[in-house]
Amino acid sequence: MKVWIDGAIVDGPDAKIPVTDHGLLYGDGVFEGIRVYGGAVFRLADHLRRLAAGARAIGLEIPGGLPGVEKILRATAIAYAAPDAYIRLLVTRGDGELGVDPTSCTNPRIVCIVDEVRLYPEAKRKSGLDLITSSLRKPNADALDPRIKSLNYLNSVLAKREARLAGADEALLQNAAGRVAETSVANVFVYRHGILRTPPATDGALEGITRDSVLEIASEEGLGVRVESLGRFDLFDADEVFLTGTGARIVPVATLDGQPIGEPGVHPLTDRLSLAFTDYTRCHGSPL
Ligand code: PMP
Repeated sequence: MKVWIDGAIVDGPDAKIPVTDHGLLYGDGVFEGIRVYGGAVFRLADHLRRLAAGARAIGLEIPGGLPGVEKILRATAIAYAAPDAYIRLLVTRGDGELGVDPTSCTNPRIVCIVDEVRLYPEAKRKSGLDLITSSLRKPNADALDPRIKSLNYLNSVLAKREARLAGADEALLQNAAGRVAETSVANVFVYRHGILRTPPATDGALEGITRDSVLEIASEEGLGVRVESLGRFDLFDADEVFLTGTGARIVPVATLDGQPIGEPGVHPLTDRLSLAFTDYTRCHGSPL
């Protein structure tokens, strides 16, 4: 692991953060998870744009602006020296007084972590994930807009914990109205009769960059593509369900609450889109 923190690139164990950082104290900050494929950063401009939008939404100024962040990201990824990597880029509110008031924090802190990531066992990536419906709900956008990738991921952490304690891989989160939002760290897609559907951000989904890539690939492949509200029933009624995310990439779903989705072990569309996505990553990277 290589980490850029406070002006230097260090190995993982040497990366330290002061206890006065409001990112640690309150989850006050924003982040991005980004992949490097074959020495090129996947959809870097889109990740930076989302980071900037999230920062603006919480009134956080990114030190050095996006050019500064990009320089740090590139330097850390180059220091990691591997063709494939996962980048975790954070902008915290920085050091401040104890107390939630962010105006005591005058120097936001950039942290860039480069390592590998594996969200699910390799066998599960092929056979499909077992999902449970979480008892938690995704906060409404008027409580905390899901489009902000904030450092406060307690809702996702608790949903994931619930799934793991139940022996499942992942948790499906609904919003307060019972519409499907997403899973703990990935977007949900449902395929039935030639139509691919995924919930809108207004139902509690992050506007995922992998989600956006899949929507583009699928429409180029001539599939019907719709961003629309879904219920749990739509997953039970689907031919195939899969999740998308930077960490997850494209991964099939085998069951929801113990019920098989589609024909067990068979997910030709998910496999086809996964292959197409691998090609897509080759032409949407920014070389290091
Ligand atoms: N939803 C949540 C809550 C996430 O944390 C992520 C991962 N960033 C996603 C969806 C997928 O987004 P992306 O494809 O941009 O990684």
